[in-house]
Amino acid sequence: MTEMRGARSASPYRGRFAPSPTGPLHAGSLVAALASYLDARAHAGRWLLRIEDVDAPRCQAEHGHTIIDQLARCGLRSDEPVVWQSQRDAAYAEALAQLQARGLAYGCACTRQDVARHWQAQGRTFARHVEVPYPGTCRQGTAGRAARAWRLNTQGANICWQDRRLGQQSQDVETTVGDFVLRRADGYWAYQLAVVVDDAAQGITHVVRGEDLADNTARQIALQQALGLPTPTYLHTPLVLASDGEKLSKQHGAQALDLSQPVAALAQAAQHLNLSPETSVSESDVATVLHAYVGQWARRWCADC
Ligand code: GLU
Repeated sequence: MTEMRGARSASPYRGRFAPSPTGPLHAGSLVAALASYLDARAHAGRWLLRIEDVDAPRCQAEHGHTIIDQLARCGLRSDEPVVWQSQRDAAYAEALAQLQARGLAYGCACTRQDVARHWQAQGRTFARHVEVPYPGTCRQGTAGRAARAWRLNTQGANICWQDRRLGQQSQDVETTVGDFVLRRADGYWAYQLAVVVDDAAQGITHVVRGEDLADNTARQIALQQALGLPTPTYLHTPLVLASDGEKLSKQHGAQALDLSQPVAALAQAAQHLNLSPETSVSESDVATVLHAYVGQWARRWCADC
């Protein structure tokens, strides 16, 4: 696998913030960025920024650059050169080839409609927001149909892990989501493959991200195990919800952050993390507020820092 680790700091801790550049940073993503940064600093570790622009149709380089600038205004700068997933094609291809060679990945000819018809025939229905598990139709071959996507064989992937905030978690990946996609029918790499390959290549030891991503963790651990990669420690932070209770997201029309006053923006993000906002500091002194938040974070989350 492609090596991209830089010089190591004394602490083995390596954390990251990995936004998808589908728009500029919004209040919810600043919370996730701040949490991952504070955890890294509380552990005297390194904090890396990775732009997850693997889903090219939904991403724009311009938004990636805007996010980097917005974070920098808040004093959040990557300790190593920013990694862009759009540049990492060879590493993802190598990981897929490894899985194919070991019989763990297979070509799949099914469309969404094929999967829906399968479950209909079994009399099973799924709620609108629930992931429809892939029933494994093409595991034994595509019966002469052309393969469109590549999937991981998840047989026996009953995954347990300990989230630092949510506690003990478990998911039977095979029955809950089924054999999930590694390379999409449109030729783009799937988020699950890219995130697992890059977390390993960057030597990430701790993942701190929003709770909306918690249910991806079992899939990512299953994939780490299939590729023989280490599993980082996970902490999923509380989500920032819009007034209607939906997750605040770019898709949900979240306003871009006003970063003319970064100390105020950081105070709002800190409040979502149940930290006491540091507002008595001058607007120019982002470094001082970050230092204070690191102390608060360490007392709350780091028995080990
Ligand atoms: N790129 C993903 C997102 O913006 C986050 C990936 C991760 O933190 O694992 O939702």
